[in-house]
Amino acid sequence: MKAAVIQKPGVIEIQEVQTPEPAEGEVLLKIEACALCGTDQRVLSGEKHVDVPIVGHEITARVHKLGPGVKGVNKGDRCAVQTVIGCGYCPMCNIHRENLCENTFKAIGYQFNGGFAEYMIMPKAGVDQGCLIPVPEELPAEVGTLIEPLSCCVNGMNYIPMEDMDHVVVFGGGIIGVLNSLVARARGVGCVTIMDVSQERLDLHKRLGLPVDNLIHSGKVDPVEWVMDHTGGRGAGAVVVAASVKSLVHLGMKVLARGGHLSIFAGMPKSDPIESIDLNLIHYNEFNIHGATSSAHDQYLTARDFLVSGKIRGEQLVTHRFKLDDFDEAVRTQADPSTGALKVVIIP
Ligand SMILES: [Zn+2]
Ligand SMILES: [Zn+2]
Repeated sequence: MKAAVIQKPGVIEIQEVQTPEPAEGEVLLKIEACALCGTDQRVLSGEKHVDVPIVGHEITARVHKLGPGVKGVNKGDRCAVQTVIGCGYCPMCNIHRENLCENTFKAIGYQFNGGFAEYMIMPKAGVDQGCLIPVPEELPAEVGTLIEPLSCCVNGMNYIPMEDMDHVVVFGGGIIGVLNSLVARARGVGCVTIMDVSQERLDLHKRLGLPVDNLIHSGKVDPVEWVMDHTGGRGAGAVVVAASVKSLVHLGMKVLARGGHLSIFAGMPKSDPIESIDLNLIHYNEFNIHGATSSAHDQYLTARDFLVSGKIRGEQLVTHRFKLDDFDEAVRTQADPSTGALKVVIIP
């Protein structure tokens, strides 16, 4: 089969490699589409290490071959791939929060070869934990690749009671900021605002016709003043920090209403994650501060249902498609903001 194989950091080659054979309990998947994500970019550039030569974890696929002993899965089943595979027996896995597994956390595209290839193996633990998320035939393969990143946003937003919230502000207008905004919209928030410092990005959102109320350049207005002006001086019910900028946590607390929720969705720079914050702001305002990392099974199902029902329209988010042979160009396109790329998908 053809695969994008990491030779060394920064060097990826499209190679003909042996198509894997599913062993006992494993399933061989034929990849229909696999999207590039920011984490992939960091791996491909050598900034982040993974254990395998083939990455890619935002995947729509079809069951191609069953290993001996596989039950409950059939050849031809169409699925999205749940990336995280928990140990299956720790207290967190027992309550289906595999993303917080207390033992060896494993994931497709990190410890197991991923989807930038024609085929991939779903390991036995993943098959057993239901990591093949059924998707209907009518869902386009490229839209199916959004199930994984959207599930992470569903997870992060689960902590926030949005149903009767007037205003949610998302800092960061990359695909993750956009998906968080769309979850807020789908969950009935009155007003959804994206703030970013890139006019290019905000213009792209506008061109794509995203169902977001306000696209604000936070370098051109005072974000605190803007939010207060647009919330009757109360502040936003929730703020999602979807950009790896520590100061946004401070800023978030300044624009939050009393009793508000702040979600630190983005990971901060690993070399310097420490930030001092005014704890009395949290104390006196009863702010709720949440983390968010990856996602678990239930959030995949919710994300899939949002996309299948059209409550979240995925088609408009996929801006570029490439063949596996053009992998390098896909990576360059995703990394260059002037290309107008939001989600770039590889269709092998
Ligand atoms: Zn991803
Ligand atoms: Zn576990």
